[in-house]
Amino acid sequence: MTITMVKKRLANGGACRKCDQAEDMLKTRQLWDKIGRVAWADETNPDSEGNRLAREHGVELAPFFIIEDNGDTKVYTSTVKFAKDLAALNGSAPVSAEAPARATPAFNDPSVVRYQIPADGLERVPPRDVVKQALLAFGEKCGIAFSGAEDVVLIDMALKTGLPFSVFSIDTGRLHPETYRFLDKVREHYGIDIHVVTPEPLPVEALVRKKGLYSFYQDGHQECCEVRKVSSLRRVLRGYEAWMTGQRRDQSPTRTDLAVVAWDTTQQRSPGELAKFNPLATWSLSETWDYIRANGVPTNELHERGFISIGCEPCTRATRPGEHERAGRWWWEDATKRECGLHVPHVDRGAGI
Ligand code: SF4
Repeated sequence: MTITMVKKRLANGGACRKCDQAEDMLKTRQLWDKIGRVAWADETNPDSEGNRLAREHGVELAPFFIIEDNGDTKVYTSTVKFAKDLAALNGSAPVSAEAPARATPAFNDPSVVRYQIPADGLERVPPRDVVKQALLAFGEKCGIAFSGAEDVVLIDMALKTGLPFSVFSIDTGRLHPETYRFLDKVREHYGIDIHVVTPEPLPVEALVRKKGLYSFYQDGHQECCEVRKVSSLRRVLRGYEAWMTGQRRDQSPTRTDLAVVAWDTTQQRSPGELAKFNPLATWSLSETWDYIRANGVPTNELHERGFISIGCEPCTRATRPGEHERAGRWWWEDATKRECGLHVPHVDRGAGI
């Protein structure tokens, strides 16, 4: 079996950042020595081997991987998928060098203590270390909830740990076309799977039949958000032991008490069953955007048109200069009611189970 990694060489002679991240991930997962050779797609030379291989296999962007085995050829454009399959081929789980030797206990086994919330609540721990601690404890059983700019910061940090993790996103059916494109941009940029969760159709149909598509302008957003977002979140979280969000304390009056880590008892789960990590709780908006710019994190094109906090299309508008970042969400309602119900303020900070 021959395995080739195709990397892009930039005009300045260096490798592209995404190719280096892919290489780092394979190294931390102890899979780098399985790569037989590296072919370079030279930005300044269309005839370089990597560019030729890209044309041959119909791939637009490096990095990508080619496995040739007894006349069969398989091409991977997702580093995560490639790492998973390669680990399986070699008869081992895709475990990082840093990953704990943590046997995965039966999910929902109440006799097993998986995680103790530290007494300091990780209050002074830098966000990237909070992300790492969450993934060391929960790995793929920790789902990063993805919808906005902050969430991609978490994905970027998670990928750099080299540890396994999961990403999910709730598609309410009412998102901007730009947000759907953003979702795919993030998927492609990081080479990750994103579990896109859609609402149960019957309650949505019942609401629309009874009240139409814009009832929230008359009687508030809670009913539509419950049907399209909150129930979808409850359903997807049943598959996780922990979740991670990009919430920050300075985002709204309802988030000032936000814990960096706590047991989430708002999703029909008991203390000890579902940990919720908010690694960016202590960050400001400008710290978040400093990270985005410094690390080339992909963004939603709506930000260039004055949108800051972005939700569903009918319930989000661009903010005016000087307005708070969430002023564009459900702008016709009182500021203290501007939560969709995904993030209910009360969570249990009890130290441990
Ligand atoms: S944000 Fe608006 S459209 Fe989206 S689920 Fe809530 S009320 Fe419905």
